[in-house]
Amino acid sequence: MEIAKVGIVGAGQMGNGIAHVFALAGYEVLLNDISEDSLKAAIDLIGKNMERQVAREKITAEEKKAALARIKTTLTLTDLAKTDLVIEAATERETVKTAIFEDLVPHLLPHTILTSNTSSISITRLATRTDRPEKFMGFHFMNPVPLMQLVELIRGIATDEETYKACLQVVDRLGKTAARAEDFPAFIVNRILMPMINEAVYVLYEGVGSVRSIDESLKLGANHPMGPLELADFIGLDTCLAIMNVLHDGLADTKYRPCPLLTKYVEAGWLGRKTGRGFYDYRGETPVPTR
Ligand code: NAD
Repeated sequence: MEIAKVGIVGAGQMGNGIAHVFALAGYEVLLNDISEDSLKAAIDLIGKNMERQVAREKITAEEKKAALARIKTTLTLTDLAKTDLVIEAATERETVKTAIFEDLVPHLLPHTILTSNTSSISITRLATRTDRPEKFMGFHFMNPVPLMQLVELIRGIATDEETYKACLQVVDRLGKTAARAEDFPAFIVNRILMPMINEAVYVLYEGVGSVRSIDESLKLGANHPMGPLELADFIGLDTCLAIMNVLHDGLADTKYRPCPLLTKYVEAGWLGRKTGRGFYDYRGETPVPTR
């Protein structure tokens, strides 16, 4: 099946990055959001990020111009009905996502593949809210999308082979690498990464190490480019906690219990870089550990 037109729902952090890589790969992109400001900010940011790629000679100025011309925006969800592939990248709340699919489904072309960029919600359950569970998949990009090589392709119980292969071809054309994952809580990357971050918070909570010694240890001792607490601040501590809760509830194993200190930081509104404070305080010139 030829995929030429792609609809993206949600123009936030992930949606704008997804629009960016699809437009550069030659797809016609229709980007939807409920907020006019989000759409404007997304187009502005995509332009700036592409300009950076031009400055680094990753793309030419002509490629940037052509890619930007391939992105259209709309506040009307049903405008996405005539696309070949829809990637839902709206807020991580199940009621938001199910409402989007239920509104879109009656208007869709019969061949359109539906996907979600969710980090944690069951693909199989989301698929049941559509008329095409066999044409429904998880299409999970990593943040920041233009820089990260991996895409997890998550098959729901009903996803058929043709849909999986069509999405695999799309990932290839984006110049990215797919990891095939089955639909179990947090898939592959977050299933492994989040318990490590949570364990780093336990090490801090129990006083085994300080913020700095934990991050230095993993950088210098395990060759990680970022320490786990630094990384948690980058992802957002609310997101980390939400994923740990999904693992804990979904796998019913106490080894996934979220560290009480992680919960405490989220209760304080110290969510990491996005709020100016998390395991580090970012309000000054250089980040200062908060413990
Ligand atoms: P975000 O908050 O930056 O953006 C969400 C956008 O969705 C906002 O612009 C909001 O206006 C829009 N939105 C909300 N309801 C909508 C609706 N009904 N219709 C259209 N648009 C709507 O969030 P994000 O970080 O971009 O995350 C989006 C999705 O990607 C989530 O499912 C998240 O789990 C997943 N994800 C996030 C990351 C990450 O690191 N942030 C990584 C991988 C996957």
